[in-house]
Amino acid sequence: MRRLVTVNAAPALGRRSLLVGALGVGAAGALGVAKATPSNAAVAAVAAVARPTIASCATWGAQPATGTVSMTGPPQKILVHHTASANTTDYSQAAAYSLARNIQQWHFARGWIDSGQQFTISRGGYAMEGRHRSIEGLGSGSSTVFPLGAHCTGQNSTSIGIENEGTYTSALPTTAQWNALVTLCAYLCQTYGLGPEDIYGHRDFLDTDCPGDAFYAKLPQLRSEVAARLGTSNPPPAPTRTWPTLQQGTSGFRVTTAQYLLRHSGRSLTVDGAFGSGTKAVVVSFQQSKGLTADGVIGAATWEAPLAVTCSQGQTSDAVRGVQTALTAQGYAVSVDGVFGPGTASAVKSFQTAHALDADAVVGPNTWSRLLA
Ligand SMILES: [Zn+2]
Repeated sequence: MRRLVTVNAAPALGRRSLLVGALGVGAAGALGVAKATPSNAAVAAVAAVARPTIASCATWGAQPATGTVSMTGPPQKILVHHTASANTTDYSQAAAYSLARNIQQWHFARGWIDSGQQFTISRGGYAMEGRHRSIEGLGSGSSTVFPLGAHCTGQNSTSIGIENEGTYTSALPTTAQWNALVTLCAYLCQTYGLGPEDIYGHRDFLDTDCPGDAFYAKLPQLRSEVAARLGTSNPPPAPTRTWPTLQQGTSGFRVTTAQYLLRHSGRSLTVDGAFGSGTKAVVVSFQQSKGLTADGVIGAATWEAPLAVTCSQGQTSDAVRGVQTALTAQGYAVSVDGVFGPGTASAVKSFQTAHALDADAVVGPNTWSRLLA
């Protein structure tokens, strides 16, 4: 998903090459802090995230690519990798540059024309260009192109890859490395108009351990920290739906529907439209099974646990009886037989159209919440 975020004012092209030249002098201590060059100072005045120091291919001593590095874009996501190499305690710049050269050699050996990933972050926190032209791809801040990589089959033309030095099946990245990753991801999101939700782990797209169980489990935190840097909400809020609150003493079609749904969950109770102590006990049981506060009151959390399961054509169940009960109460002539056939599908579509919902005849949470309004 793409979202609008504050984008850098574009420095003039001539100044950009000066800027890239300055960025070639890498220093991990400067990550996240704008260098005091005139052009960067001007950018920092309007940018939420200053461009981090990224050592160029020339700086770390890359060999030329063995083929033409073509540009693609715009990127739709950022993929996080680990190198699955040793968790070195040599945090020096020299070790970082050596790592970048090694990765390029490993990737040449796979038959690739250059490093597969666009960026690399060492355990010492040094951010480096991977594939040639990756810094060029960052362009003026309004650029949407990046070099076509080779880090994840099927995703290379739509994603930017970041290799993080180390093996993170149980260990975690160093603090310096983590901070550099947060800064680089935030800058990439800002530059390319991506949101924190566009950050993924390699394993989200391929059957691989990468970036390791421990690191992968930290990706929600990475998205949160990137969101904080971007000044966006954290994480993107789920669409808010309105649900009725049902509790002991209430009655009517919503209670009847809830009772059908409780029965669908495998519990036995009488469906009579009256929320008595028997219904409350069953609600408590349902809530306990979902790890919810077991107060016997059906509110938003319980509806979305989900008690209101998604129903579609072809199903026969008590949940479908619940759908049909609500449709009937909303004025649609359907029989409450538990069979989701063409008649029920047609009624659902009419209801969805009338309420500006996607008219797909599938009763998901949005349609459910409107049916119960
Ligand atoms: Zn990977």
